[in-house]
Amino acid sequence: MKNIVQIIRNKRDGGILTRDEIDFIIQGYTKGDIPSYQISALLMAIYYQGMTFTETTNLMNAMMHSGSIMDLSKIQKPKIDKHSTGGVGDKVSLVLAPLMASCGVCVPMISGRGLGHTGGTLDKLEAIPGFKTRLTRKRFVKQLRKLGVIMIGQTREIAPADRLLYALRDVTATVDSIPLIAASIMSKKLAEDINGLVLDVKYGNGAFMSDLRVAKKLARTMVQIGKQAKVKVTAVLTDMNNPLGEYVGNSVEVIEAIEALKGKGPSDLMEVTYTLGLAMLKLANIKGGRRLLKNNITSGKALDTFKELICAQGGDILVCEDYTRLPLAKQKIYVRASRSGYIHLIDVYRLGMLLVNLGGGRMKKEDVIDPSCGFRICKKIGDRILKGQTIVEIFSDNPAAMRRVKKEMVPVFTIRTKPCRKKTLVRETIQ
Ligand code: URA
Repeated sequence: MKNIVQIIRNKRDGGILTRDEIDFIIQGYTKGDIPSYQISALLMAIYYQGMTFTETTNLMNAMMHSGSIMDLSKIQKPKIDKHSTGGVGDKVSLVLAPLMASCGVCVPMISGRGLGHTGGTLDKLEAIPGFKTRLTRKRFVKQLRKLGVIMIGQTREIAPADRLLYALRDVTATVDSIPLIAASIMSKKLAEDINGLVLDVKYGNGAFMSDLRVAKKLARTMVQIGKQAKVKVTAVLTDMNNPLGEYVGNSVEVIEAIEALKGKGPSDLMEVTYTLGLAMLKLANIKGGRRLLKNNITSGKALDTFKELICAQGGDILVCEDYTRLPLAKQKIYVRASRSGYIHLIDVYRLGMLLVNLGGGRMKKEDVIDPSCGFRICKKIGDRILKGQTIVEIFSDNPAAMRRVKKEMVPVFTIRTKPCRKKTLVRETIQ
């Protein structure tokens, strides 16, 4: 008989958990036999003491087997997914999933909601009127066979232990732990029955892992877990010291993604999209490289696939041509530079939290988000700015919240007289 208190004490004191102990914890928590307060204590012990690679793999396996594993064996195409560790303004999945499907890759994408200061693909997709992110398993397979792409949320069946643990970590300050993130991401991704996975591992002040070295260690851990599970994993380390693209918010990011699919995406968004897309093509053994990706954008093939995806999931495809069909705030205010100089630093974490304050993200799991609000980021690190020029536009129909956020937006941007170098966006690829 296992003793949960002894297990917590062992981890608290730097011990190593056995596979049986980890299985006992995950099964017990998923069934409701172990209370959240004991799991919270254990998560904090793991946060401080870490886990060996074997413990991390055992945790990932226990979480993956807490639910059922998809069977996509009837689909002949290479099944490759992409996952980001989370950022601000990160709408890459919205562009990449239809783009890759238009290239012949099958993309069974199970995404998440916003967590803390980071946005979530599901929240963005749900800004499209009618778009459903909860579909049955039967529909999942049917749509993948027909269209080659699906974008839904985690179901009750897929890694339910992760859903429970993720929510608990969010409220116990235990998100930014390498073994916990690695087990969380890999448990749900490997349950999808994929052949390959491309990970966008973010570092910088807008990422869960601000330090590049720690982010690299996280990337290596996940690549290694994939190797053990015989799933090819490529991790790309990308910078999150700048928000990605020009817009932050739900509807506004959908518009930016559609613009990207029309060939008018901002260069940073396209750089990350093409880098991850190339890695996905490679894992799928599909030739054509960057030219194929670009062709499918310029020919409109990727946008057509996005429209088919929206249609298949009950959404209003007319949003692609008429952005006013999306919920959009009618009011706008400007944050202007108080001095001339160069942008040296953006507090991207704070920027993400300001969107949460404006209503575009959640404080609590149950909160309903306002998809209509958002920001337009007019300047990035290294850009020159003149006194009085706009740094950020704020969109919201809540004037009081908007004024509050405007005041708090000023210290998010550090302006200095000396010029400052732009950030390298794509740092390294780990295979
Ligand atoms: N994304 C996940 O899916 N899990 C984490 O723990 C962090 C980011």
